[in-house]
Amino acid sequence: MAFLRTVVRCSVHRKYGLLIDPLQSSSFAKVNLNQTVLKSSAASSTLVDDPSQTVQNPTPKDPLDISFQDAKAAFKSKTNLELIRAYVVYTLCSFETLVTHNMKLMKLAKSILGEKLFIQLMKATFYGHFVAGEDQYKIRPKLERLRSFGVKPILDYSVEEDISQEEAEKREVEASVPEAGDTQIDGALKQYHVEKTFADRRYKVQSARTYFYLNEATCERNMETFIRCLEAIADFQKASPGATYGTGITAIKLTALGRPQLLLQLSEVIIKARQYMTEIVGGEGNVLSHHLKHEDLEAKFDKIQDKESLRKFLKQVTYDRHGVLHLFPWSGIIDDNQELSTTFRVPDLKSGRMIRLITQLTPKEEEMFRNMIRRMNTIVKAAQEMDVRIMVDAEQTYFQPAITRITLEFMRKYNKEKAIVFNTYQCYLRNALTEVSTDLEQAKRQNFYFGAKLVRGAYLEQERARAAAMGYPDPTNPTFDATTDMYHSTLSECLRRIKDFKNKGEDKKIAIMVASHNEDTVRFAIEKMKECDIEPADKVICFGQLLAMCDYITFPLGQSGYSAYKYIPYGPVNEVLPYLSRRAHENKGVLKKIQKEKSLLAREIMRRMFTGQIWYTPKGNYVPV
Ligand SMILES: Cc1cc2nc3c(=O)[nH]c(=O)nc-3n(C[C@H](O)[C@H](O)[C@H](O)COP(=O)(O)OP(=O)(O)OC[C@H]3O[C@@H](n4cnc5c(N)ncnc54)[C@H](O)[C@@H]3O)c2cc1C
Repeated sequence: MAFLRTVVRCSVHRKYGLLIDPLQSSSFAKVNLNQTVLKSSAASSTLVDDPSQTVQNPTPKDPLDISFQDAKAAFKSKTNLELIRAYVVYTLCSFETLVTHNMKLMKLAKSILGEKLFIQLMKATFYGHFVAGEDQYKIRPKLERLRSFGVKPILDYSVEEDISQEEAEKREVEASVPEAGDTQIDGALKQYHVEKTFADRRYKVQSARTYFYLNEATCERNMETFIRCLEAIADFQKASPGATYGTGITAIKLTALGRPQLLLQLSEVIIKARQYMTEIVGGEGNVLSHHLKHEDLEAKFDKIQDKESLRKFLKQVTYDRHGVLHLFPWSGIIDDNQELSTTFRVPDLKSGRMIRLITQLTPKEEEMFRNMIRRMNTIVKAAQEMDVRIMVDAEQTYFQPAITRITLEFMRKYNKEKAIVFNTYQCYLRNALTEVSTDLEQAKRQNFYFGAKLVRGAYLEQERARAAAMGYPDPTNPTFDATTDMYHSTLSECLRRIKDFKNKGEDKKIAIMVASHNEDTVRFAIEKMKECDIEPADKVICFGQLLAMCDYITFPLGQSGYSAYKYIPYGPVNEVLPYLSRRAHENKGVLKKIQKEKSLLAREIMRRMFTGQIWYTPKGNYVPV
């Protein structure tokens, strides 16, 4: 039988001239991107259906069909019942009324069936399909199964509050205004001030979860939840040694850890500091283009009257080894309990006075900021000790400068020997390439490991609507194609730098996750990796998709030796209902992908029926890279 398979594989190979390098049939998949891949089931994965074969080859790697049409490879980790459930769930998700009223329907079902029956129904359907389990112990079989099919976890404890729009707006407005009031000081940037109409940050967002600030105690609880998530990954690593090789990931959101007002104010100050720098030094506002000798800088401020404050300001100015000027001690915001109000005072050339770039914060607000940083520090330190990675999600543009900056400072502090902390860059933003290039350059100059997740972005409609309503320029790319170009050029820049490091023998200084369900983007990444001589085993590029979304991409990637991740939500049934509701809506928005998933599911169900695999038991022994 094995002989027959080999013959068939070779003839397929000869016929289409692709897929398998005969010398490396059990090694990494070879992909030929210039040709459409024509699949034969014989040419596809051959190692796992038959358990006896997996024993013979301890680390199987399948050829990769980059047209992602290989139903067998996509679903070999699933039982027949799971396939049927997936098909039913996706079909239900295509009924408009069901999706629109799904939350009400779930609540109605609960009141009719009672708690126990409702939970069973959910487990047999939506919850079972989209969620990994209730707690860190119950998800373990799922993680184990994914691992045995070459896929690693990004854990996300998906318990969400189910609050009304009014409650969300009330909380957000209260938590976004400084105690001193929302008095917009000179040169205020309206983008970084709360606007009630958009205070419910869930507006038109399906693929991301939203935290609303209640008080410091809830932030503390969120921190503990993130740490439990880290423990879940660490326990999994311990329970099945080598399971994730220290590459398991926990996703976190900074808005869960502190008052949004502070992120807004820090974001505003970052943008104002850039503008100020441009005013003083000239140039484009790129932090790495600012060169000015100390005496020239001093000369610019000769009209400032408050000499003592000026002296303090000039004392904090630093230069790196390339002579680049840094006006503010950014690392101080995470290391030295530095007060925001005092740090961001600058000499104003026009008035000759010292001015604040940030609204005065009260001691309580300064303490809240330090609390947020302390929480983040506790999480990252725990991650380092447990050998788990942290991925900080990207959120709305009015928080993003602060989130990116804080995360970068944590990278500088903790990514000294490997990338533990990862930032996220949204390529639907016009400035994505500039931001990534600047941060890559900072990581290189300051010698820390750079980790990033590249996404298209989850808040497109909200960003556009808010910008239009508040009258500031739309921060997003004008078209989907422009976003794709931005994604691809940003990824190319990362790969170019990875290659440079590799050529110099400095491996793994940059690690990138291509977090996308877009086949073209995944193919682009694979092609570019090849072009840059970057092997999957170099472990510098990985791929990420949501659990139960585009399995036809994730599993074939993992099974063919690429580093593949699933974003894995977990939590008790009743508490993840808002997550399930969002997923139902999200599926409606990605109909083309769901149609493909459904047609592949149908094909695989039929194949198994016709080949007599009624009691198919998934059994993989792939080893994730
Ligand atoms: C593992 C993982 C982690 C993620 N983390 C984050 C995160 O931290 N922050 C975050 O914001 N998102 C995050 N996302 C969500 C990601 O941004 C969405 O998956 C994305 O919106 C869908 O893009 P896609 O690459 O999967 O491709 P596709 O599904 O092909 O992209 C289609 C989407 O592109 C969008 N689009 C982008 N630009 C434009 C434009 N100019 N015009 C029209 N449409 C446009 C549309 O909204 C459309 O829904 C994450 C996703 C994954 C899988």
